[in-house]
Amino acid sequence: MISLIDLKRQYTMLSNEIREAITEVLQSGQYILGSKVAEFEKRCSEYLNVKHCIGVGNGTDALVIALESVGVGNGDEVITTPFTFFATAEAIVRVGAKPVFVDIDPLSYNINPEEIEKKVTPKTKAIIPVHIFGQVCDMDKILEIAKKYNLCVIEDACQAFGAEYNGKKAGTIGDVGCFSFFPTKNLGGFGDGGLIVTNDDEVAEKARMLRQHGSKKKYYNELIGFNSRLDEIQAAILLVKLKYIDDWNKRRSEIAQRYNQGLKLDGLITPAKTNNCERGHIYHLYVLQHERRDELIKYLSQKGIATGIYYPVPLHLTKALQFLGYKEGDFKVAEEVCRKSFAIPMFPELTEEEIEFIISSINEFGGSI
Ligand SMILES: *Cc1c(COP(=O)(O)O)cnc(C)c1O
Repeated sequence: MISLIDLKRQYTMLSNEIREAITEVLQSGQYILGSKVAEFEKRCSEYLNVKHCIGVGNGTDALVIALESVGVGNGDEVITTPFTFFATAEAIVRVGAKPVFVDIDPLSYNINPEEIEKKVTPKTKAIIPVHIFGQVCDMDKILEIAKKYNLCVIEDACQAFGAEYNGKKAGTIGDVGCFSFFPTKNLGGFGDGGLIVTNDDEVAEKARMLRQHGSKKKYYNELIGFNSRLDEIQAAILLVKLKYIDDWNKRRSEIAQRYNQGLKLDGLITPAKTNNCERGHIYHLYVLQHERRDELIKYLSQKGIATGIYYPVPLHLTKALQFLGYKEGDFKVAEEVCRKSFAIPMFPELTEEEIEFIISSINEFGGSI
């Protein structure tokens, strides 16, 4: 079976380095916010070219803390996409604000900037563009609208570590950026982890306080905060992996090119690269569309090829968000993509034979019916 992502291959390749890094933490006696987290934050600042990096417990907390740090709360509205992982909207609701959805662009699967302006009201405080599957959103247009209405832009860059847009790294284009180091992300730990990035000193200071009980100095609590810190062991692992992220992202792009060129099945829609920057898309996932998706994934599973559906339900139709009052038909593009899309294996360690086998299997689907 070829898995969607085989995390063991990366571990096997780096096992010595990673075991050494973990042992160092174990022997240090410092397990929470020690030198590894500080070093990782510093390295990320250099890599992303951003002033402040704040390690937190996971990507969801990064979004919640970022929203609170810029002052989004009760009664505010936040514009975002219905085609994302649930956490994007969950974070908005968690701080007391209301997610306001806007349909996606059918090519990039990212929020359609043309639709954003229609949803701005006096209550709108922020926009959360999500760089879905690793492709950076049309940020120029989003920033233009944000400027016009004085809105804050929080990038959900959880799927886009290392992606670029006009010379800037994803996460550093808007006011605040949020990353996740969940194991399957492009840069993934061996557990949960997250990062908030910003060039704004005040927002950074507040986020730093919020991650540990609203205090700058231990036991002198100034705000009601969270207990949400990047773990020291995860930081040590991520420091090892950060060295390889450019190579891995490059390899993902190469595999995507192979898929794009090799896949010929009738009616198959391959992912469009709408962002013309060289690293505009880092292929966290490689997502295809086909009218007969369900038959196709069943056939691939019989061939030993894993697939995944990202995402089966657009957020406006999830049970948890029913209270927002959306209904089927509200966001037709997102709904259609949810019905037709599926991801095929994508990770840097895929072998040439596997790539060939995946391509030929998909191309032969027509012949098998
Ligand atoms: C993974 C992900 C998150 C949440 O990150 P966790 O670390 O799992 O909390 C949020 N948004 C998007 C788009 C994601 O892919």
